[in-house]
Amino acid sequence: MCFLCGAQADTKYQKGLSAVYRTQEYSRRVPPHAKYKSICEVCNLEYALLSSICEQYDVSTNNSLEIAYFYFDDFLGDVRLRSNRVGNIVQGDGDELDDPEIANSLIQPQYFLQPVYVLDENHRMAVVRQVMRAAQESGMKVVIGRPFTRFESADAVFADEETTRPQELLGLDEAERFGPLPSFIENDRTDSHLRRALQLFKLMSMVGQDAGMSNPYLQLDRDTFHSIANFAVVNHDHAVRLTDLKEYFENYHETEFMEMKTVAERGIDLFGKQFDSKYKKTKIFREALDAFLSGKNQQMDDDRLIEYVESQVYAAADREDYAGHATPEQAKAFVEAIREYLVENDLYDLKKLSDWENALVNSYYYAYEQSL
Ligand SMILES: [Zn+2]
Repeated sequence: MCFLCGAQADTKYQKGLSAVYRTQEYSRRVPPHAKYKSICEVCNLEYALLSSICEQYDVSTNNSLEIAYFYFDDFLGDVRLRSNRVGNIVQGDGDELDDPEIANSLIQPQYFLQPVYVLDENHRMAVVRQVMRAAQESGMKVVIGRPFTRFESADAVFADEETTRPQELLGLDEAERFGPLPSFIENDRTDSHLRRALQLFKLMSMVGQDAGMSNPYLQLDRDTFHSIANFAVVNHDHAVRLTDLKEYFENYHETEFMEMKTVAERGIDLFGKQFDSKYKKTKIFREALDAFLSGKNQQMDDDRLIEYVESQVYAAADREDYAGHATPEQAKAFVEAIREYLVENDLYDLKKLSDWENALVNSYYYAYEQSL
């Protein structure tokens, strides 16, 4: 049996000089320690072609090599592997994909193979970003996979057979469509599309650049309003003024963004507008979170907890001269808005609240600035 595809095979597989497949790797069909592996004629030919092309372009096959298969949707293409259909190796962040003007005519090849090097997880994210961008621009779908592990077209516009954990956490392992659905389509809407993925990549890269990060694509582990706001506020000097960031929230986290803005507005009602320091701007919110934490720590029931937080918040606002004249009603409205945000975002328990406290403060700060 062929160790790559499972077809019947007589030829023994021999590792070449530059081994795309190392003998201990990849075999889904043969036990890892079997002495000889067999390879079928088709896989053997593909293997020889890839090795030859890699050699011709001075590409080492010792690094982790993957292929992005660009293709048009499900009609049958004229598949030929020609040297000028194979591009240079994509190495990093720049714009290095060859032949950006992929030929799309009925008599020319409809598949385009792009070999890519993968150095580490952050680098792989950068490569994925470039591949997605090329797919978006050419209107071709794309599957990333190992060389010749039986390429299969996918329903999704972008599919990744070698996806990494950071990609999965951010939903960057798949994109169902090129862009958002028209607004009149209402059933089963998801925001899994290339435009969103590329916007998220752009944000991570912008923030990473401002902070001089060496691995900007591995810093964020959740695509939620408060985690992204936190990531941006902590790492970017002008996070509150980034248009791309605001647009991303408005497009994809509208509810959470609006809820946090409501919290901020109630905070301003209670505590007045603060213009100087981030410390002052977030002071009353921090007081509230601390009261929630300490009440939950004492296992207060919900009614008592709310009452307790309200009284703490009111006392804190009342203590400060610059806060103006605070009323218990304002404190109540503020605490109610916070509670709603926490419940809606599944953060209303002691552990999560303490884990996310700083992120929440930073997202409050972000929303506060937007409300001023
Ligand atoms: Zn085979």
